Amino acid sequence: MKTLSLKYSVNKKLINYFLLFTFMFIVFQLSVSCSNPVANNIYEIDQSDCTACGKCYDVCPSNAIDYTGEKPMIIQSKCTSCGNCANVCPEDAIH
Ligand code: SF4
Ligand code: SF4
Repeated sequence: MKTLSLKYSVNKKLINYFLLFTFMFIVFQLSVSCSNPVANNIYEIDQSDCTACGKCYDVCPSNAIDYTGEKPMIIQSKCTSCGNCANVCPEDAIH
């Protein structure tokens, strides 16, 4: 009987540790995703502000800017949200 109750209390402790670990892991993941807004940012070019200077195209490390038209456009599937284009745009046309 004693062995059974000992086993039960050990299992209960393990479950509590597991639940605590899971809770802390979820809190950690939430804090990381909330504190890194750039990684979640989706950049787009405001065509009405863009003067087609080409600076964004030159600094994109992912070849994610399509400049085959009159004005550039960001290819979302290639963009890594690094922010280079938004940083160099003289017209503040990339958000
Ligand atoms: S955010 Fe970075 S990867 Fe995305 S289009 Fe701009 S420069 Fe390219
Ligand atoms: S850097 Fe700005 S103004 Fe120049 S082409 Fe890119 S979006 Fe347009």
